[in-house]
Amino acid sequence: MAKNKCPKCGNTMKVVHEPGSVAWVCTYCDYSEATTESDALHNDETIYSLTLLDNDSTNLDVVKALSRFTGLNFMQVKDLINNPKEIAHGFAYEILEKKKYLDDNGIRYHITPYFKY
Ligand SMILES: [Zn+2]
Repeated sequence: MAKNKCPKCGNTMKVVHEPGSVAWVCTYCDYSEATTESDALHNDETIYSLTLLDNDSTNLDVVKALSRFTGLNFMQVKDLINNPKEIAHGFAYEILEKKKYLDDNGIRYHITPYFKY
């Protein structure tokens, strides 16, 4: 989870993004903490939105997989495929799991803002 309080003085920390790493820097004292890219995933406070792209509503594997994903029945899923919309949103580590599931099942989707993981 995101840290936003300095462990040393209790003041607010700000996030400094650099290529390949993320650092947390206290806005009051000299405390700072650097993390790697994988930790960056867990410290990413962005809420990502996962939206369905064009999918084949006649492909039963896609319909089944999306039904498990959304908890909707097959009719509702076919409706969703014909009127694509946001199917999930959340922090990077949550979206990454969903992304893997969708990739494994050949479902086409789009994530905003840009998802770098
Ligand atoms: Zn501090």
